[in-house]
Amino acid sequence: MFIGIDDTDSAVTGMCTTYLAAEIMLAFPELDVIGHPRLIRLNPMVPWKTRGNGAVSLELGKGEGERFPIAMINGRIIYGHEKKARNGNVSMKDAEERLTALIDKWGQMGDEKTNPGFVITEERPPEGLFWRAVWEVITVEDALSYLPEGSVYKGFKNGRGIIGSSASIAWNPKHDRTYEIIAYRSPERWGTERDIDEASVIEMDRRFPHTFNNYDYANRHIAISPNSPCPVLCGIRGDDRKELIPALEAIRGEEKDRWTLFISNQGTDQHILDAVIGDIKPFSSYHTHGTVSSRPERIEGGHIIVSMKDRGYEAYCAAYEPTKGFRNTVSLLRPGDEIEVWGGVSDAVRNGKLTINLEKIRVVGAADIVEKIANPLCPHCGKRMKSIGKGAGYRCSVCGGKAGEDEAKFRTVKGEERIATGYYEAPICAARHLSKPLKRMSVQNSVAFL
Ligand code: ATP
Repeated sequence: MFIGIDDTDSAVTGMCTTYLAAEIMLAFPELDVIGHPRLIRLNPMVPWKTRGNGAVSLELGKGEGERFPIAMINGRIIYGHEKKARNGNVSMKDAEERLTALIDKWGQMGDEKTNPGFVITEERPPEGLFWRAVWEVITVEDALSYLPEGSVYKGFKNGRGIIGSSASIAWNPKHDRTYEIIAYRSPERWGTERDIDEASVIEMDRRFPHTFNNYDYANRHIAISPNSPCPVLCGIRGDDRKELIPALEAIRGEEKDRWTLFISNQGTDQHILDAVIGDIKPFSSYHTHGTVSSRPERIEGGHIIVSMKDRGYEAYCAAYEPTKGFRNTVSLLRPGDEIEVWGGVSDAVRNGKLTINLEKIRVVGAADIVEKIANPLCPHCGKRMKSIGKGAGYRCSVCGGKAGEDEAKFRTVKGEERIATGYYEAPICAARHLSKPLKRMSVQNSVAFL
């Protein structure tokens, strides 16, 4: 059977849905886990997500074939199995009761934004459900319409967690996948400051080449550890699951109470749709291309925005304040540059245009720019002339002689002197869970293990 669970946590009162993967393993001691537990990220533009729109699922049954470590709980390693040999003897009804007890115990019901749900199915729902849930905003009814007959589901409060629960089961790792090992803190430490040795994070980052988003060198920020009051101590992401247990052991600091090794769609760009600017819509994320059509502007809050156009359609691209140094790159863009961009679109409209919240850009062609380097010299007295006003030409302060705008001294700045062509990404400290890091741009992993 497949179990999906979502929306049990709260940004205010704590918890983390990923913690429940281990709790589910403990609640079904007579069953094996087939493959790895899944940590699946869904549409990052849904307005009601608490943080990263993550949902968790796992397959339970009687396993066979290769065994691999997937969790450490109470000092004991739990193994996942390569294949399912047969179903376990836990009925759907019994499973429903055990999961209800877990939500009663762990669900942060006091937070109005927490709307838990779980789903139990005997087969995976069609993959199309996952793609809709990562690209669009869908309803609980939409999600339910994909569930195989005989599935059991339960929603608490508005029941929205059913969407993530079922989409997580529907995800297919054949397109691409990564892993994340998440270590949890002892319950008595939840809500207190975390103790992680920064030097050990940097050493780990250098020692394990297939991990990613560990440490933000530009901003001196430990990216494996959250700031929220949740039970997570740290999470290390990577392409090679065999690296992740030694990578976690290399982190010094407070004791790791337990850990779970998830398979995931983090760092895959699966939220991104290819589209032309004229087709982009709010609440989805896109890869699109066009020509820069304005000079970058700094707006309130320290964000940088720049306009781009394609076939008569225009959109703003924004590098928000948390993207720090990435804003400097975006500030170098000039009208005429050819760019590709990746990012999410909210429903905010500025000057009639939607805004793409930039995750990364590729400068395909940098335009040569003609820039003024000096005002004209007066042809009568040889003095440097003064500007009369924007676009109004020049006047000599000695003899009053006039000159046009185009009589100033100009030079051509070659595009590549200003900005190199190639990829640029938001720093790790501001990276979305789903954004594919440039480090992985040439990697696309599929896997036989579910
Ligand atoms: P996490 O803290 O685990 O990273 P989160 O707290 O940001 O994630 P959730 O608590 O899971 O997010 O809340 C997101 C809610 O949105 C869940 O109820 C989920 O089922 C729902 N949801 C997920 N994807 C969609 C979608 N495409 N359309 C509508 N609702 C969605």
